[in-house]
Amino acid sequence: MTFKTLDDLPEDIAGKRALVRVDLNVPMADGLVTDKTRLTRIAPTIEELSAKGAKVILLAHFGRPKGKEVEEMSLRPVALALEEVLDHRVDFGSNCIGDIALKEVEEMASGDVVLLENTRFHAGEENNDPEFAKQLAINGDIYVNDAFSAAHRAHASTEGLAHLLPAYAGRTMQAELEALNSALGNPTRPLGAVVGGAKVSTKIDLLENLVSKIDVLIIGGGMANTFIAANGAQMGASLQEADMHDKARAIMAEAAKNDCRIILPIDGRVTTEFAANAPVEIVDFDENTKLRDEQMSLDAGDKAIKNVIAEFEQLNTLIWNGPFGVFEMPPFDTATMATAKAAAELTKTGRLVSVAGGGDTVSALNQAGVADDFTYISTAGGAFLEWMEGKELPGVKALG
Ligand code: AMP
Repeated sequence: MTFKTLDDLPEDIAGKRALVRVDLNVPMADGLVTDKTRLTRIAPTIEELSAKGAKVILLAHFGRPKGKEVEEMSLRPVALALEEVLDHRVDFGSNCIGDIALKEVEEMASGDVVLLENTRFHAGEENNDPEFAKQLAINGDIYVNDAFSAAHRAHASTEGLAHLLPAYAGRTMQAELEALNSALGNPTRPLGAVVGGAKVSTKIDLLENLVSKIDVLIIGGGMANTFIAANGAQMGASLQEADMHDKARAIMAEAAKNDCRIILPIDGRVTTEFAANAPVEIVDFDENTKLRDEQMSLDAGDKAIKNVIAEFEQLNTLIWNGPFGVFEMPPFDTATMATAKAAAELTKTGRLVSVAGGGDTVSALNQAGVADDFTYISTAGGAFLEWMEGKELPGVKALG
């Protein structure tokens, strides 16, 4: 897809008002920002626009106030944290539309940065109300979207605005789109994906999309139990979805039709207690496996780990969403940690392009200490999954 970036800004950008949609959904406790990762990510776009003399007007949502003003969901504390990250003054306007916003923007000089209040304090934001979008657009000459993580929503500040002002992708959005395109849009094959996590039911669209596009699908986590059970095994007390067996079989059939190999764990870490450091037995898995009623598989076993790493070694591109086991609890983090480290190593030596995303995946890779070694890690939960599902993201489409 084609979209304009900050490289395409007009020559006379100095003094112009840039409405910049960013992701400021940062974790907060007692009115203080506790993790500034998202702020660091948007800094390059703000700094570049400000350095070019634009007036930078930031728009963002925070939480789910559902169209009402909710004091705890004010962005005011975020302005302070952003000021520290940017080492640049950030003023705050207590409404994103109307006289307050207008006055705040009128008082700006070239290079200034202003954050306007939570867009979701107005119902028009989530309804993508054209009138509300117009009220936002009044304060800008151009629109920059740097919030990939909100791009799966067609809201006024993520989609509507792009139709009203000349629209550009910010640097974070650009990096995200380029990374995702190199992984699924135009990948160097063979292309494989790890899909792990709890349930098949939450990832059906994703699995169906992947089997038609990729060469190897490596399934882990609770959802692997469902696939193994669908092949005839009895998985005891393991997390699995009996009502998804038909779906799992259909996905395996679709994969076979498309020459996509499905790799299931050939053994698992089995226990009778859902607890950290519970005693573990490694059990081989195939269609004849019969776990006892009280036994559950909480992670892939050693043979499965070896097998997965051998698959990684054959790949040129890897997409990853979801853990292999209950990685929050040792020793059921073993497969996720070992395979994540192997993927990171292959990436470091230039043999693999690795792109990972989704909430739990990011924390699992952080836990393995390899987050910086992957080619790209997307912190966008919902938007990343919808992209893996092959859906067109409205906020991205509107930039095209
Ligand atoms: P998801 O949000 O679907 O990516 O699922 C992530 C969650 O799946 C994590 O909290 C893991 O603990 C959990 N999980 C992974 N494997 C298993 C398993 N074999 N049994 C139960 N839970 C699992």
